[in-house]
Amino acid sequence: MLLNSDRLTYYFTTLCEIDSPSRGESKLSCYLQDLFHDLGADIVFEDNSSLVTGSDCGNFVARFSGSRNDVDPVFFNCHLDVIKPCLGVKVRKINDIFYSSGDTVLGADDKAGIAILIEVIIAIVLANIPFVPVEFVFTTCEEIGLLGAKAFDPSLLVAKYGYSLDSTGIDNVIVGAPASYGISAEIHGLASHAGLRPQHGINAIQLAAHAVSRLPLGQIDSETTANIGLIAGGTATNIIPDYVRVAGEVRSHNLSKLFSTIDLFKNTFQDVVSSWRDPHNLITSRPSLVFAFPEQYPLMKLEAASLPVVRAQQAASCLSRSVRFIQAGGGSDANFFNACGLPTAILGIGMENVHSVSENIKLADMLRTAELVYSLLTC
Ligand SMILES: [Zn+2]
Repeated sequence: MLLNSDRLTYYFTTLCEIDSPSRGESKLSCYLQDLFHDLGADIVFEDNSSLVTGSDCGNFVARFSGSRNDVDPVFFNCHLDVIKPCLGVKVRKINDIFYSSGDTVLGADDKAGIAILIEVIIAIVLANIPFVPVEFVFTTCEEIGLLGAKAFDPSLLVAKYGYSLDSTGIDNVIVGAPASYGISAEIHGLASHAGLRPQHGINAIQLAAHAVSRLPLGQIDSETTANIGLIAGGTATNIIPDYVRVAGEVRSHNLSKLFSTIDLFKNTFQDVVSSWRDPHNLITSRPSLVFAFPEQYPLMKLEAASLPVVRAQQAASCLSRSVRFIQAGGGSDANFFNACGLPTAILGIGMENVHSVSENIKLADMLRTAELVYSLLTC
């Protein structure tokens, strides 16, 4: 295997130092599209997802037809955007570990994945090694709600299964991730002066507090979590608040548990609002509830016989190593690829402390993941 750690270091550092905030990925996208052209991609094309995502570019695909026709075409996915603070990244390398200079994230999430794909395809092309037909799928706006993947048209791909390079840990293959739904409960009460006419008000915040105190939150069971993370309402300390919005989320690896938890949330809010009574019989109106539970991302669950699992096992055994098949607690682009019929596993790429200015990654871990990707393309 002809992987080159200096070249991987060069591309990783270069990618990290190109600004690519969510909705501002075009500079990085142009750099990569030119690079994949130069590396001999058969086609590089961008979709029109920017119309939906509001990014300054679309998702893009680079296709290499390869010369192996004994294995199904495969795709690899990374996201182009980086969580804030991410402008003006300066990479520091200390003892073969990459860090930012401390005032930004590093951007290993997800540029380590992109650099790994670049290194693997260069190594294969330069050595003229037969490889499996492959497509690289680069999405925008992952960090602000998986918007690029959500807007991606799977019929643009030849490959019918793939891998997202976008997780912590090493030798980890993620085969399951929860579905997530947002929770929004808006309670309308009745405003009144808190000191002069308190008996004429309906306190929306108090109703919300009663409801929230009755909700199961945190780890509900082994597959399900729930959280209330936002509350906003009221206008002044001397006014009985006529409005409050409570927002949160429910996640589960089991859809029936997920929907029964959402039902419980809805019924709890509804019960509190419906059972409100006016102790003074002075108010003619009643409090009301507007409850919504928008899908944030769908469930991901790969079977043991699915191609991403089988091929990951084969690729690892070609390297005389084993991989762990595990569940994740969060959503990623892979949830959407799976939901639209493209079985997709997530590979751990070794990034650490992601979404913080202490984010870092070891060169050795990037090389180890690159070996696995190389093996998926050649074994
Ligand atoms: Zn990521």
